[in-house]
Amino acid sequence: MNRSSDIVVAGGGPAGCCAALGLQQLGYRVLLLATPRPWPSCEGFSARALQGLRQAGLPSAVACASAASPRCATWNGTSNDANSEHLVLREALDQALLSDVSSAGVEIVAGQLGSIHAPEGGGCELRVRLARGGNTALACKFLIDARGRAATGGGNRLRGPESVSLVQVRQGRPGAGSSYLCSLPSGWAWLARTDGGRLFLQLTISAEDGALPPRKDLDSWFNDLLQPNQDLLDRIAGTSPTGPVFARGSTSILRDELVTGAVLRVGDAAMAVDPLSGNGVFQALSSALAAPAVVNTLLQYPDDRPVAEAFYRQRVEHLFLRFARTGRDFYRLEQRWPQEPFWRQRRDWPDDEPSHSDIPPRFLGLQAGTVLDGDRIRAAAVAVTSDQPLGVWHVAGIRLAPLLENLPDTTEARRQALLDRIKQTVSEPQKAQLVRAWLQRYGLL
Ligand SMILES: Cc1cc2nc3c(=O)[nH]c(=O)nc-3n(C[C@H](O)[C@H](O)[C@H](O)COP(=O)(O)OP(=O)(O)OC[C@H]3O[C@@H](n4cnc5c(N)ncnc54)[C@H](O)[C@@H]3O)c2cc1C
Repeated sequence: MNRSSDIVVAGGGPAGCCAALGLQQLGYRVLLLATPRPWPSCEGFSARALQGLRQAGLPSAVACASAASPRCATWNGTSNDANSEHLVLREALDQALLSDVSSAGVEIVAGQLGSIHAPEGGGCELRVRLARGGNTALACKFLIDARGRAATGGGNRLRGPESVSLVQVRQGRPGAGSSYLCSLPSGWAWLARTDGGRLFLQLTISAEDGALPPRKDLDSWFNDLLQPNQDLLDRIAGTSPTGPVFARGSTSILRDELVTGAVLRVGDAAMAVDPLSGNGVFQALSSALAAPAVVNTLLQYPDDRPVAEAFYRQRVEHLFLRFARTGRDFYRLEQRWPQEPFWRQRRDWPDDEPSHSDIPPRFLGLQAGTVLDGDRIRAAAVAVTSDQPLGVWHVAGIRLAPLLENLPDTTEARRQALLDRIKQTVSEPQKAQLVRAWLQRYGLL
């Protein structure tokens, strides 16, 4: 095999499949290189991660998620069972993702991306190790790097405290699915019990200073770390491990080079977040949903390359920081072991800026920004608010800039001008209502 495609997507996880589908829908010939995850895993998805999969057109993947099951958390000595999550077995999810993209017409090749060469004339030449054996060469106009945390290069723009998640799979009796999150002096544990009685026990600890013992001692070391939490021990009583403990890197990483030449990184290859957020898949889909318009702009409107790059970089960075700060605030809530390295390292990272949820909504002004307009990225005036620092372009399809420019200074005159402008420009009552609600939220009406 020695051939070319418009776009090659390397990696068949949520981000790769979502980006492949979006590009194929824009009319590109897409080839997806898939190699399965080599370890078993269960993850908890939020409702918005499922919404992202639905929005991306991945219905079989959505169907893999179990119904919402209760999630109990014990943090700083206090228990809370108000939350829920959808447990997903990743092996089944990853197969469903491939089946969704294949039914949509994306070609799938079972293999692993090896080297990437970017010739002067543009595009990429790739070396691929085929799953059935042997190597091949592929050429493409553009490469989407969706290899998750396995993606090489890219540098680090931001990197959190070094973390590792140790995972033990256990078997117990079948029963209702549930999950449990708890803090420990050395880190935090997440226990997922699937309907079939399979348990996934994941312990996230510091990986600074070579904290891990030799491989042969890992299982007993892991068991020792669980001992301070009797509740956790009670929950795994009567179940047995089905294999050895294995380690997954889980450091938060924001890559520096998100777009280089004819390569764009999506999902965890662009930013990998702390698994504590439970939002890894949501984040991965956020970048992958934006990727088709970014790539389309780079290929079809090369003069707009700086705008497309800025759009992508700002969004990825913004989302990464938002979740990193929310995570920091959650780590701060646990105050029982302030001197333990794990908790000390996470209290102040990434910075001391308030997290998204702390900021009261306020309109800050109009600004030149970058927006996603159909299948491309362009420059446009946006309304910047305290909680949307990248700006809002339109509400219900009504552009905000024409409504908000050159407003009078006094409150009553401004209010009247806004109401007049809405009346003149928005004919549909429902849209007018949504615009008024947005203006009210930001104190403009
Ligand atoms: C310990 C841990 C627990 C987590 N728990 C949760 C959770 O509960 N909820 C949640 O939402 N998120 C969770 N996440 C995050 C979630 O797994 C990721 O954010 C999400 O899977 C990222 O999607 P992706 O498509 O970018 O990458 P991945 O899902 O990692 O997919 C990348 C794909 O690329 C393949 N690949 C690798 N190298 C190559 C290559 N050379 N060539 C071709 N293919 C390649 C891989 O096999 C894989 O199939 C967790 C992460 C960790 C580390």
